[in-house]
Amino acid sequence: MAGFRSIKTQALVVGTMRLGEADRLVTLYTRERGRVSAVAKGVRRPLSRIGGRLEPFSLVHVLLHPGRSIYTVTGVDTIRSFQAVREELFRLEAGAQLCEAVRGLFTEEEANPAAFNVLVRGVAKLAGASGAGEVSVAVTGTIVKLLLVQGFVPDLAGCVACGTTEGLVGFGAEEGGILCSHCLETAAVGCFAVTDEGIRCLHDLVSCPLAELDPSRMEESGLREAERMARRLLAHYAGWQTGP
Ligand SMILES: [Zn+2]
Repeated sequence: MAGFRSIKTQALVVGTMRLGEADRLVTLYTRERGRVSAVAKGVRRPLSRIGGRLEPFSLVHVLLHPGRSIYTVTGVDTIRSFQAVREELFRLEAGAQLCEAVRGLFTEEEANPAAFNVLVRGVAKLAGASGAGEVSVAVTGTIVKLLLVQGFVPDLAGCVACGTTEGLVGFGAEEGGILCSHCLETAAVGCFAVTDEGIRCLHDLVSCPLAELDPSRMEESGLREAERMARRLLAHYAGWQTGP
C-alpha cells in the first residue's frame, strides 16, 4: 500500500460481504489503484450514509484511507447506481460473472484505467440489456475486452498451430485461438469444434466497440459458441480449472 494519504478515486463495487456486526468488506475496482479491498465501518446500521451507496455494481466516487493492511472507506458518493443490474436475477447472475472475471484477471493494487473503463461500459450495457442475447453480448463482450486490455488477443485469422486459413473448425484456449481440422485432431484435450458463425461472432466481440455490439446481427448458436470460447480463454488466463 503506497503511502498513508487518503485516495480519492472513482470505483465500481465488484464484491461485498458482511464483516462482524455492523461492518462490510467491499471489493472495489478503482480507476487509480485497480482492484482493492476495503472495510466500510458501521454501514449495516440503519442510518449509515455510506452503506446504501456501496451496493454491488454501483459506480461511486470513493475516499479510501490506507491502514496497515487494508483500506477503510471514509466517504462515498454515487455516480451511477446501475440499479437495473440488481433488480433482475438474470442480470445479477451475469454481473457476477464480470466480478469473477475481474478477480481472476487483475491482481490487487495494479492501476489499469483501460480495464476500469471497459468494466464501467460493460456494467452500463448489462443494466440496459433485456433479452438473453443482449445479456450474453454484454457479459461476453466485456470479458473479451478485459482479456484484450490484459494483452490476451485470440488469434482468429488462421490456424494458431500451422497457419493455414483453410478449414478452420476448432478452438483451443491453451493454443490461443482457432485450429484447422488437422490440428484439432492432434491437439491436446480441452479443444473443441466451432463453426464459421461462432468464429465470426467472437471476431465481432473482439473488434467492435462494446456499445456497437448487437445480438440481432448474430446467430444465437454462434453467440453461444463465442461465449464458450471467451469463457475458456478467461479460465485459461485466470488459471482456473475447467470441465469439458
Ligand atoms: Zn492447423
